[in-house]
Amino acid sequence: MERVFNFSSGPAVLPLEVLKIAQEQMLNYNGSGMSVLEMSHRSSTYLSIIEQTETKFREIMSIPDNYDVLFLQGGASLQFAMVPMNFMVKNKKADYVNSGVWSEKAIEEAQRFGTVNVIASSEDKKYTYYPKITLDMISKDADYVHITTNNTIYGTKCPVIPDTGEVPLIADASSNIMSEVWDINKFGIIYAGAQKNLGPAGLTVVVVRKDLSENIPDNIPTMLNYKTHIDKGSMFNTPSTYSIYIMGLVLDWVIKTGGLKELEKINRDKASMLYDAIDESVLFTAPAVKEDRSIMNVVFVTGKPDLDKKFVTEAKAKGLVTLNGHRSVGGLRASLYNAMPVEGVEALVKFIQKFDKENR
Ligand SMILES: *Cc1c(COP(=O)(O)O)cnc(C)c1O
Repeated sequence: MERVFNFSSGPAVLPLEVLKIAQEQMLNYNGSGMSVLEMSHRSSTYLSIIEQTETKFREIMSIPDNYDVLFLQGGASLQFAMVPMNFMVKNKKADYVNSGVWSEKAIEEAQRFGTVNVIASSEDKKYTYYPKITLDMISKDADYVHITTNNTIYGTKCPVIPDTGEVPLIADASSNIMSEVWDINKFGIIYAGAQKNLGPAGLTVVVVRKDLSENIPDNIPTMLNYKTHIDKGSMFNTPSTYSIYIMGLVLDWVIKTGGLKELEKINRDKASMLYDAIDESVLFTAPAVKEDRSIMNVVFVTGKPDLDKKFVTEAKAKGLVTLNGHRSVGGLRASLYNAMPVEGVEALVKFIQKFDKENR
């Protein structure tokens, strides 16, 4: 069986080991005589799957007890609306940092619910850097500050999680959650679509500090109210059962790999290997400024759309796939999520070097 190196930005590569275990357990999970796909979410077998997934996630991410972990649906995109509905309620004002297309979308949704103050933006330079955020920029009366920790499309990341003082920090961490060690105490809320670094599509993980969910108004539709899901342990209705199960297997793999500290080291090594090849080449450049470069999504260009296209086609023939940039920006992008093996990056580096020599 021939597998490719898949650099997709999401849904993305999963550890081969995870897929093999899922394959083995497909028809008969753990002696239950059925697939997890067929299992009642209320069964004791499934309850143990979701509980273990939460426990392992808390352990890997060092999530303190004063935070709830939720397994929801609707993607990060639904969180763009749920966050302001539930939390832009006291002063009906929030501070947003605009660092790319996903931030723009979050801002657009929040504007439906109150006053959005864009306190920093990198739109002036086509989002090629991460805007600086300092404590004095935060509005005293903001209900929260919202950031995007990693810009999947532009290949930049928030270099240091900012200190927002008394104002809770809410983060869309879809494309770099669980990629490096974070102090969870810096955040009020973290949310992420699972399909980049956690598991399959159809699952959104939300981490909510308990004191924040105490003030949610009750006029919010039941399914859009975080309290509903907190009170019912993500079991108010049927959760995305199979995705949660696969995420559990991914977490087992993370623990086996050595946890977040080890993973962060591997991720940094993979990214610098690729950035070095780009920087040393004649043809390719990475538009993101060095100090804000993403270690998950490496964006690069030749500056010639035809040459970019040729690169994507020839790479594909070598089993290096999904290297095209986001349809809104073009160019090239290699996503190096946790599950991308070092061998994949090495193969890509070799290909870049060869392509560079042949097409100068
Ligand atoms: C992929 C992505 C999204 C959108 O996620 P969906 O789950 O498809 O809604 C939002 N924000 C960031 C940073 C992303 O990378």
